[in-house]
Amino acid sequence: MSVQERTYIMVKPDGVQRGLVGKIITRFEERGYKLIALKLVQATPEHLEKHYADLSARPFFPGLIKYMASGPVVGMVWQGLDAVKTGRAILGTTNPLQSPIGTIRGDFCLATGRNICHGSDTVENAEKEITLWFPEGVAQWTSALETWVFENT
Ligand code: UDP
Ligand code: MG
Repeated sequence: MSVQERTYIMVKPDGVQRGLVGKIITRFEERGYKLIALKLVQATPEHLEKHYADLSARPFFPGLIKYMASGPVVGMVWQGLDAVKTGRAILGTTNPLQSPIGTIRGDFCLATGRNICHGSDTVENAEKEITLWFPEGVAQWTSALETWVFENT
């Protein structure tokens, strides 16, 4: 676990269509994470198949790719202490019905196949996803808040 840990978070097409981009960004900002990359992109099915390659044998895979390609997504990279695990805790569980109130999925959606956001599940996958979505690289900047959010920086 490190203060430099990074995770790939994405607002899915339903989250964009429903006007939830700002609220999702706010959850990460308010928790103390630092935004180091952000873009709105219409992803191709081929790109999404790479992103979800681990799920390619699952019965819901074709529907998942269609859903994810149905409109633009907002991809972002957030950095800070325990970003991957805590990032997933901020999103909630895959099935929104089981997701606690206070999580993004627990507050804003109901169906697994329309769960409005994505978050990397391991540090290794986060780094792969960051390279896939941001081959151009991410920003390096010092946040003025850093000494107020973390100890010993
Ligand atoms: N998904 C689905 N049906 C399922 C399981 C997953 O439609 O039975 C979708 C859902 O949108 C989920 C995505 O596939 O967010 C990726 O699945 P994963 O198990 O990686 O869940 P996540 O990491 O997004 O919580
Ligand atoms: Mg996943």
